Amino acid sequence: MFENLSERLSGVFDRLTKQGALSEDDVKTALREVRVALLEADVSLPVAREFVKKVQDQATGQAVTRSVTPGQQVVKIVHDALVDTLTGEEDPGKLKIDNPPAPVLMVGLQGGGKTTTTAKLAKRLKEKEGKRVLMASLDVYRPAAMDQLAVLGAQIGVDTLPIVPGQKPVDIAKRAKQQATMGGYDVYMLDTAGRLQIDEVLMQEVEDVRDVVKPRETLLVVDGLTGQVAVEVAEEFDRKIGISGVVLTRMDGDGRGGAALSMRAVTGKPIRFVGLGEKMDALETFEPERIAGRILG
Ligand code: GDP
Repeated sequence: MFENLSERLSGVFDRLTKQGALSEDDVKTALREVRVALLEADVSLPVAREFVKKVQDQATGQAVTRSVTPGQQVVKIVHDALVDTLTGEEDPGKLKIDNPPAPVLMVGLQGGGKTTTTAKLAKRLKEKEGKRVLMASLDVYRPAAMDQLAVLGAQIGVDTLPIVPGQKPVDIAKRAKQQATMGGYDVYMLDTAGRLQIDEVLMQEVEDVRDVVKPRETLLVVDGLTGQVAVEVAEEFDRKIGISGVVLTRMDGDGRGGAALSMRAVTGKPIRFVGLGEKMDALETFEPERIAGRILG
């Protein structure tokens, strides 16, 4: 579907005279192509501009290594700069869940993949780290969402907090904390209610829950295919709630993953995991190298 950036750049450089070092004009010409590739990968315009500027300063004047073409060299510089920007934490998959029971708050819009991701992450903590996990749904508006978490819990062998109809989110959170403490759980995960859009009532509710449980991690789950919207959602949640990381879902889709770059550049928050499908195993630790490769095509 997309023309590969390396191919595009070799085309550009074929038309340029080969010199000993990358001249400002060479770099400028090449970076125009890079900017187009970034925009096609759904990186937002201001982020693409800023990124290209940074790379331009790095690349200009660099000696061209004999073993590679100037085009390949610019691709390498761009690739390394992408990885650099995308890298947020040394070990993004390592959650801060010492001092049991550690509360983990899952937040995001409805349909972003929050409930699925909660269960995927619980399974991962159980299987990879041997943690005892309790999950609780705070979605008092959609009984189906509560049932969905219970069904997933049964499927992956992770306990869920029994549903008590009519309880408020804050009270469910308190009950989860109590049960996690008494039951000797390492982690309790709270799957908050989502909305179709950000609204004040939703935010206030999540803030109240946050103040009660004081989460060790607050993970925002967003659909990676929604690009700029995902970034705006992250900014808003971070401003109001304070997030410790992001999970980008639907990265198994057609998207080129540019949202990841915008997300890092705009919010400064680390991307911790990516969702790669509907199955309970389809969750991976975020790997900057992989996304960089995908953005470049
Ligand atoms: P919530 O409303 O945020 O809790 O969203 P759900 O967890 O219910 O997910 C909504 C839909 O997206 C479900 O059909 C999930 O199976 C699907 N989904 C979640 N994560 C992924 C993912 O990483 N890839 C794909 N392809 N589908 C996903």
